[in-house]
Amino acid sequence: MTILVTGGAGFIGSNFVLDWLTQSDERIVNLDKLTYAGSRASLLPIDGDDRHQLIVADICDERAVSDLLVEHRPRAVVHFAAESHVDRSLDDPGVFLRTNIDGTFNLLRCALTFFRQLPSNEAASFRFLHVSTDEVYGSLSADEPAFSESNAYRPNSPYSASKAASDHFVRAWHHSFGLPTLTTQCSNNYGPRQFPEKLIPLVITNALAEKPLPIYGDGRNVRDWLHVSDHCDALRCVLASGTLGETYNVGGNNERANIDLVRAICTALDELQPRAAGSYAELITFVKDRPGHDRRYAIDNRKITSQLGWSPRHTVESGIRATIEWYLANSQWLNAVRSEAHEAWLDQQYREGE
Ligand code: NAD
Repeated sequence: MTILVTGGAGFIGSNFVLDWLTQSDERIVNLDKLTYAGSRASLLPIDGDDRHQLIVADICDERAVSDLLVEHRPRAVVHFAAESHVDRSLDDPGVFLRTNIDGTFNLLRCALTFFRQLPSNEAASFRFLHVSTDEVYGSLSADEPAFSESNAYRPNSPYSASKAASDHFVRAWHHSFGLPTLTTQCSNNYGPRQFPEKLIPLVITNALAEKPLPIYGDGRNVRDWLHVSDHCDALRCVLASGTLGETYNVGGNNERANIDLVRAICTALDELQPRAAGSYAELITFVKDRPGHDRRYAIDNRKITSQLGWSPRHTVESGIRATIEWYLANSQWLNAVRSEAHEAWLDQQYREGE
């Protein structure tokens, strides 16, 4: 049996692919465009494993996607491929619209054509799992209850608007055409192989390079943090036992204000890789807030825990420590994914923010 993963050279996708191959004999066909966020370096641990095949293509390419479905006959599609960074969506929303909306639309169309040609026994077990985000629900105040699956969609950034649109298409393809879909909305992931533009790897790598640790606004924006291995477990659980057409919120029960999270990273780094003098916390620098910055996200994960028996294993403290250890041991990966263009983009980002 084979599953088709999109975006499996990115952060969560590569962790999912690596985990999958340690736990299953099924093959993975990995469709990835290898944008700045995707890297062959993230797949090095499975180099030479003939159960994995990377196909470099765009999810918007109808011919490439439909040929691939016909050739490999996957029993499931797990859809991660996306433009995923909010700051970049403020600079260039068009690419988010193309990949996240047009790309998902194209995958759904191709998957439906493929699904309709399957014999009934294969059609009965086919699944299309769409990986989405809690950001589609908008922003919470400090005392509002966490997002549940019945919350209204209120996306505030071009990124979350594009993910919200893709979620609606997935829902429509189930309700209108009977495609057996599942959707997950998860909170902020962290862990190995996350591109160092996102908060946790940015703070770790900047600290080790003795660069400023930029924090937007007053640092009191709150996020729920989910270790990527917990997320991968949840996805396998939803794929195996989720009810068709349903959405599952996936959260780590780890709400933290950004400033508290960054201080916790500094404390762990001080222990694991002490600075020549002082604490890494001295590098913390407050910068001008991101436009439209959502104040708080929080996930009510009672549906997936009670119905599917999943629960997160990592606390932020254990997960952060393991993540720092991974970055300390994998400087080669970091060198492979970093480019001059990325460094220039980061520099410009935080100069503008000052
Ligand atoms: P990422 O940016 O690290 O990786 C995205 C991957 O998609 C890359 O490998 C990239 O090359 C590939 N890709 C981009 N455009 C493509 C295209 N047009 N065709 C084919 N491949 C393309 O993203 P991530 O952080 O791993 O997120 C994966 C999914 O999870 C996304 O859908 C994202 O919205 C969702 N999500 C992420 C988080 C998080 O905290 N990282 C939280 C909630 C939801």
